[in-house]
Amino acid sequence: MNEPTQALQDTSRFRNGWINIIGPRGPITFKGKLLGETTSFQDRHMHEGRRFADRGQRCYGCRWSEYKIFIVTELDQRTRVAYGTDYDGRYLVCSFGQTVVPHEDVYRRVDATNSPAEVVELLTTRKYGHKPNITAAAARLMARVSDIDRDLQEAWDNRVVL
Ligand SMILES: [Zn+2]
Repeated sequence: MNEPTQALQDTSRFRNGWINIIGPRGPITFKGKLLGETTSFQDRHMHEGRRFADRGQRCYGCRWSEYKIFIVTELDQRTRVAYGTDYDGRYLVCSFGQTVVPHEDVYRRVDATNSPAEVVELLTTRKYGHKPNITAAAARLMARVSDIDRDLQEAWDNRVVL
């Protein structure tokens, strides 16, 4: 079974407790709960004849995004020592670029913030010369967490980027 499917079925992380995730510089451990997660993973490949997509070729069976938003109530002491104040904040926003293509690394970005508006900003892609963009999976995540967290709902409703 593929990892994202399992993750979506694991409802225990939606309850308050100690959570361990892998960040860009190793483990991040905190007390809190998962507010929501989405993925662009698709259980099929968009290329024939070859096992993996070429570099730059889009295939959501080979490379996909995963987004998660956690509420953090307490940071583990070891994480605090390792990361300093980097992960002090009410919300933890994870953007992972997953890959099954050999010799490619999983991209891990984890940011902490107290600001609901910044949560939206962290899920917004800004590339020089392009209009700011929110991917379908990130927009779905904001819609999902808006049902649970009133502050995030307000930030999402008042967003500038559509
Ligand atoms: Zn593929």
